[in-house]
Amino acid sequence: MTSANNSTDIFVNEMNTWHGQTIGNKTVEALHKNRFDASFFETRDETVKAVIEMVSKGMKVAFGGSQTAKQLNLQQLVSEKGAVILDHNAAGLSDDQKMEVMRQQQICDVFICSSNAISLQGELFNIDGHGNRVAAMSFGPRKVIVIAGTNKIVADEEAAWQRIRTIAAPINFKRLNRPNPCAKYGVCMNCNLTSRGCNIYVATRRKPPMMDFHVFIVNEPLGF
Ligand code: SF4
Repeated sequence: MTSANNSTDIFVNEMNTWHGQTIGNKTVEALHKNRFDASFFETRDETVKAVIEMVSKGMKVAFGGSQTAKQLNLQQLVSEKGAVILDHNAAGLSDDQKMEVMRQQQICDVFICSSNAISLQGELFNIDGHGNRVAAMSFGPRKVIVIAGTNKIVADEEAAWQRIRTIAAPINFKRLNRPNPCAKYGVCMNCNLTSRGCNIYVATRRKPPMMDFHVFIVNEPLGF
């Protein structure tokens, strides 16, 4: 019984690996056509190595509230490399102080985040509450690194917004313990609460011309 399950588990893993490679590489190819600097990594360890190589001592590095970056332990690893972390979620910050850190993030050396969805056409789709993440992804930081597991890849723009309404946003607001209906029902109800976190919708269809913009696709499920 156990060996049968193990052989099925191995087969399922092989099929999932193949699928991730296939859609991951196709997405990277499309991102290149859209002028992004894009790479495909089989594992999170390879991804972390590539990110850390882009950071030097003294650089100002910010994170866009990314669970993917947290899973990869990037903040600690970047800090150990001697970078200065601009953390708007640091304990004890007042709203004014948090706002000031988010303003500083817009001109940091390296901004690291994920994307709510990436289409097979090589376009990025994101929602934001304050706008600090999508602003930094659009202009300002010397370098932007977007890290996304293959679970973020979708067929097209319609599927991207669908993913955001049915997966990314509900889970994120559940994580944040917001009283929003998506955190109760698991799908977007297009609420109008002040705690709504979907205020800005951004499609990044091509690399902004003056940005140093990297997209790392990882063949593992990361974030949500
Ligand atoms: S609009 Fe409201 S219900 Fe919909 S995902 Fe955003 S916070 Fe949730």
